[in-house]
Amino acid sequence: MAINVTPIPALDPEINDIRRRTADFINAEILPNEETLWRSRREGGLTEDEREHSRRQSIELREEIKVKVNQAGLWAPHLPKEYGGMGLDFLSLAYMYEILAYAVGASTLFGIAAPNSGNASILVKYGTEEQKRKWLIPLIEGEMESGFSMTEPDHAGSDPRSIETEAVRDGEHWVINGHKWFTSNGIDANFFIVMCRANDPTGELGKPGQMTQIIVPTDAAGVNIIRGIGIFGHSTSDHCEIKYENVRVPIENTLGQVGQGHQAAQDRLGAGRVYHCMNSVGQMWRAFDLMVERTLTRQVHGGLLKDKQFVQGFIAESYMDVQSARLMTINAAEKVANGDPDARTAISAIKVFVPAAYHRVVDRAIQVWGGAGVSNDLPLSQMYLTARVLRLADGPDEVHKILIAKNILHRYEDGESWNFGN
Ligand SMILES: Cc1cc2nc3c(=O)[nH]c(=O)nc-3n(C[C@H](O)[C@H](O)[C@H](O)COP(=O)(O)OP(=O)(O)OC[C@H]3O[C@@H](n4cnc5c(N)ncnc54)[C@H](O)[C@@H]3O)c2cc1C
Repeated sequence: MAINVTPIPALDPEINDIRRRTADFINAEILPNEETLWRSRREGGLTEDEREHSRRQSIELREEIKVKVNQAGLWAPHLPKEYGGMGLDFLSLAYMYEILAYAVGASTLFGIAAPNSGNASILVKYGTEEQKRKWLIPLIEGEMESGFSMTEPDHAGSDPRSIETEAVRDGEHWVINGHKWFTSNGIDANFFIVMCRANDPTGELGKPGQMTQIIVPTDAAGVNIIRGIGIFGHSTSDHCEIKYENVRVPIENTLGQVGQGHQAAQDRLGAGRVYHCMNSVGQMWRAFDLMVERTLTRQVHGGLLKDKQFVQGFIAESYMDVQSARLMTINAAEKVANGDPDARTAISAIKVFVPAAYHRVVDRAIQVWGGAGVSNDLPLSQMYLTARVLRLADGPDEVHKILIAKNILHRYEDGESWNFGN
């Protein structure tokens, strides 16, 4: 089924045009080719040669589609035009992402695969000209891969101030020691952006212990990738456990100023959360279409699924979940775009609400499809796992609920009340 996109009257015609062109591309080039594009997910029963052939076909098709995305002027929407992107503003991007996410995995074909896209945006904002030449341009041109290495096994990722990976200045170098895990894309990455506590014994670079992001090439001596962590029953993944053992990198690999690391992470995560939610909305939309479509044709116990009231309940509840998740996310995106001080509360609210709604919608779609729902023939099982991870990545639900409650309580303690009309 194709995604159904028509102009939204309240939107700028330019955003509507981008949405239409994205939808046309998804409908014509990606959805009909999904099976070939992601065939490696479904290669059970093939011989080694057949598997290799099928993998090559998928890679070739992906490259062909990337060229077409470029020709259609839809490549790297998050990057400024001078770096080969579309230069879209925050709100336009959010509106484009929900369409893109309808086709699972399509973001990689549009040059916005995480964590490369987040790293590229941070390099655009904080990178020196030399860092941009060395790391950003090859990243954009697909010649390099990257990872973002912040979470540590021995400290709570939900409290970033607890990190202990240390970068000590030694002359014109940093010497980095620390233990990280869940660094995504770690197997393929050519460099990591590593969150450290910086210590300069000379005092020239400020007081000790300031949060600082440092670019670390993965081939530097002492970058030891221990393993790809197996998740959800798979024996491995590209989410890596890494030990940094006396890794020496030049001081000029510091991203931004010493002490700007926390702000850079917030810049990345704040905007990223809105985009992740718009992605989730796009995937819920797809799951919803798949579910409803199935109810129209599947006969069970002498009737179509669409005529069973349990299933009608699934459809109604899913409609409400998609609508509320989408409208909350657009409201949060507008607050960010307008510089509204309540944006942080709105972002935390969608960060909790949307993955949970996404989880519920996909769960119902799987139920309606029965056994096929958990098979690799449909994108639903992958969506289900993604939705589950989103409840703890980028700050677990509990941390965001605490922030929402604090912001609301402060307002009332100051003698004001919440304005839901805003
Ligand atoms: C698939 C995947 C990919 C990831 N990719 C990356 C990556 O690329 N780079 C990176 O740096 N990290 C990455 N992460 C790590 C992720 O960001 C962390 O797992 C997340 O921030 C939570 O940190 P933690 O695992 O240390 O959990 P903890 O901080 O130990 O928290 C555990 C649980 O405690 C509860 N909790 C926390 N605080 C409170 C509180 N105040 N009150 C009540 N309960 C609370 C929550 O339920 C939480 O889930 C990834 C994780 C996954 C699963």
